[in-house]
Amino acid sequence: MTVNSAALARAEVPALPAYNAGLSSDAVRARYGVAHIARLGSNENPYGCSPRVVAAMGDLARQIPYYPDASCSALREVLAVRHGVQPEQLVLGNGSEDIIQMLCQAFTGHGDVVLTQRPSFGLHEIYPRMMGATVELVALTADLEFDLAAWCAALQRAPKLAFISNPSNPVGCMWTAEQFAQLLQAASPDTLLVVDEAYVEYAQHTPGYPDTLALLQGCGKPWVVLRTFSKAWGLAGLRVGYGVAGDAATIALLDRVRTPFNVNQAAQIAALAALKDEAFMRRSVQATVTERDALAQRLRAAGLRVASSATNFLFMDLGQDAAVVAEGLLAQGIITKPWKEPGFSQFLRVSVGLAEDNKRFALALASVLGRPI
Ligand SMILES: *Cc1c(COP(=O)(O)O)cnc(C)c1O
Repeated sequence: MTVNSAALARAEVPALPAYNAGLSSDAVRARYGVAHIARLGSNENPYGCSPRVVAAMGDLARQIPYYPDASCSALREVLAVRHGVQPEQLVLGNGSEDIIQMLCQAFTGHGDVVLTQRPSFGLHEIYPRMMGATVELVALTADLEFDLAAWCAALQRAPKLAFISNPSNPVGCMWTAEQFAQLLQAASPDTLLVVDEAYVEYAQHTPGYPDTLALLQGCGKPWVVLRTFSKAWGLAGLRVGYGVAGDAATIALLDRVRTPFNVNQAAQIAALAALKDEAFMRRSVQATVTERDALAQRLRAAGLRVASSATNFLFMDLGQDAAVVAEGLLAQGIITKPWKEPGFSQFLRVSVGLAEDNKRFALALASVLGRPI
């Protein structure tokens, strides 16, 4: 007997696209029989996390039977001091994607417009649509940068919520402090501004990157800034991110839709340990920025169009179906992310890895494209 659960689902759900998370290293190894896997598809930190995090995991064993602290008090306190905000202005999440979902659940529904970029981080689109909201996408300029005028015009129409990635995933481009101030000026007090700074630690190496929290303080408009431990801090496998809001009332609303124990004990301990070794994170970011610039230069010298990047990845126009090229790379053990959004099917996003993996990528790309790189 076949069941028809789709008929029972809320209408929004069957219409949602599946999140494109890519293949695991084990799956690639099994499918292609390759010995070495270069994980360049998920913007992870190839240098990993601080040894202090690994050491802290040893203390975890005796805490396994107990529920974690539902309010993440210790981590919340440290983050509040770090950012100069009140602890009540913070929300912790099972990755920052958890907070993106909370924001959509608390603030969006039928009849609401959510504004974001095309191409964008998939969940900035999927969660609003899950709630029945309409998503409006702002296009890039022809040279793969943010379009300030188009964004200001769209913000003046007062969408319910705007996801502003700075820098962008997947493109890598960024809003400068000056541009961000103009966005803020254009925004309506009836729009919740959500600034996703997943790559802030990398972007701080690019001149002009804003101190967003400072610009938002006292702006008189509702805002949330999202940060994550998944990228520069090297904790993607443990899932922890956070949001800073302009006021405690916004956080209180998110707490109503949040699952009570959303950040597990391992994640809380790891984030605290990682923050105690900021120097490790800074060194790995510096190494990645150097590698990124060298790889971008090599690709551009070979005639490829590569977007400017303030992140730990590069977004490039291959001039042919990127899914086919990515498949060829996968057969050589190199995981990348071919972009699937309309208008971007010829674009590939590659994370910056260790020097030897970046070389492997360039050589494999040359072999798949059939030209020197
Ligand atoms: C990676 C990423 C996130 C989410 O990371 P989590 O692992 O859920 O913390 C959020 N936003 C953007 C733009 C990202 O690239």
